[in-house]
Amino acid sequence: MFKILRVNMSDLSIKSEEIPEAYQGLGGRGLTSAIVLKEVEPTCSPIGAGNKLILAPGLLGGTNCANSGRISVGAKSPLTGGIKESNSGGQAGQYLAKLGIFAIVVEGLREDGKLYKLYVAKDKYELSPADDLKGLGNYATVDKLKNEFGDKAGFVSIGPAGEWKLAAASVAITDTEVRPTRHAGRGGLGAVMGSKGLKAIVIDPSEGELAPIVDKEAFKGAAKRFAKALSEHAVTGQGLPTYGTDVLINIINEAGGLPTRNFSSGRFEGADKVGGETLNKITVERKGNPTRGCMTGCVIRCSGDFLDKKGQFVSKWPEYETVWALGPNCEIDDLEAIARMDRACDDIGLDTIETGNALAVAMEGGVKEFGDAAGAEELMAEIVKGTPLGRILGSGAAVVGKTFGVRRIPVVKNQALPAYDPRAVKGVGVTYATSTMGADHTAGYAVATNIMKAGGDVDPLKAEGQVKLSRDLQVATAAIDTAGLCLFVAFPVLDIPDAFNAIVDMINAKYGLSLTGDDVGSLGQRVLKMERDFNMRAGFTSADDRLPEFFKNEKLSPHNEVFDIPDEELDTVFNF
Ligand code: SF4
Repeated sequence: MFKILRVNMSDLSIKSEEIPEAYQGLGGRGLTSAIVLKEVEPTCSPIGAGNKLILAPGLLGGTNCANSGRISVGAKSPLTGGIKESNSGGQAGQYLAKLGIFAIVVEGLREDGKLYKLYVAKDKYELSPADDLKGLGNYATVDKLKNEFGDKAGFVSIGPAGEWKLAAASVAITDTEVRPTRHAGRGGLGAVMGSKGLKAIVIDPSEGELAPIVDKEAFKGAAKRFAKALSEHAVTGQGLPTYGTDVLINIINEAGGLPTRNFSSGRFEGADKVGGETLNKITVERKGNPTRGCMTGCVIRCSGDFLDKKGQFVSKWPEYETVWALGPNCEIDDLEAIARMDRACDDIGLDTIETGNALAVAMEGGVKEFGDAAGAEELMAEIVKGTPLGRILGSGAAVVGKTFGVRRIPVVKNQALPAYDPRAVKGVGVTYATSTMGADHTAGYAVATNIMKAGGDVDPLKAEGQVKLSRDLQVATAAIDTAGLCLFVAFPVLDIPDAFNAIVDMINAKYGLSLTGDDVGSLGQRVLKMERDFNMRAGFTSADDRLPEFFKNEKLSPHNEVFDIPDEELDTVFNF
């Protein structure tokens, strides 16, 4: 009933197979990482024939569980050189799960420069030429595909950045409005898809059905308890639905952890102009939708539509990390310009976090002035045109820093840091340093406990307690990503014990298991161990589990803190 699709781009063959024993009991990130570990040679070229691109819904995908339709995309990363899982909202995860597909594994390589699209429906799979989509942005690509396949399908695509195999290229996933606004952004997975000559995947869910459930009554009860917890928690029930993730701009600025001018200050004078409160206000004034889910079944609905002054759709609400990367980190306080750059990134298919960091590092290197919004848009235009400068910018912050002789390059394992300065939010600094993914806030979101005090209170400015906090969260997150849940469920899970119990109960009811909470924790540990194993065999050592040195010797205002967690402590994060 459940299957894995193997799509070989070298000979254009497609095979459907039962889930092998080694992958049983896994979904989402757990499944993509298991396949990468077992089937990809760790030292292979990320854009060569040996790499594989895997797309997998989570263990709870295809059900009525709230917020359970994430899709994990995994491969060896062109950006970090290590294992990569980047997950996204949108409709693709739920649609694949309803077709009974646990994973699509894209193998081989196209060396003739031709592009293809993959059509997936109930028991029907087909590869066909897609050269007519060559060079198109994600929006135009999806428009053409909608004309051909209708607007009830879900689409996964790459823009020109993926075709050019840029190390910051993303994989786009369409949302509930069939727009390519959701992205598996991090780590350059779009470049892997581009190397294989796969421009798009069309997922036709019309004959799909809800995933089979062993104990329907038990599942229904647990799903109800889970949705209730999501609605009752202040963050997921009020803050996120009203202001989106951009609500964090003023919160993190107040905490002195909003990286400004390429991580040179923790406060931004123009924060309020780009914060969630302003985003909500102008959206309401322009009669846009300020509360929208990115996938069916989302009860939090942290997204919205950003309209320009004439009321025309520009982009979905830019996420907090996007607003920060293209805004405060470049000293830009122009929300309109930020939304246009968000749209440009979605269209060309680039990770907004990596791109915003690349722009800020270029500004530090003298390419443009900090605060120059028009200049930042000119740099975006270079990327869109694919000029040599644009391709350097699209290759990520580390390449830009080396190109322009910049000393302060905020990357770990070559991946740019997200929107929380590790000197002011030290728990997330531990996650950045040690995550198997490179600098990644989602891998162990210690901001929740450091700043929002969810699940306890660990002082964000002190070294004590941060390693344990990051460890626990990295383990829990690996399990949440394996279940296919949106990470924002972590807030109620940290604060309301029954929310976590409900997740365990749903997994048990769906598969007829009797897992305990500890078993789910062990699942998270197992995933992290697999990822560490791959990275070690790819050549990573403990020296790669470190922040850049400027975080250790440059004090950050306003708290005048450095990142002072000893290396020996960082090396204990995975002691379990
Ligand atoms: S909470 Fe936000 S990111 Fe999560 S599923 Fe809903 S709209 Fe998507």
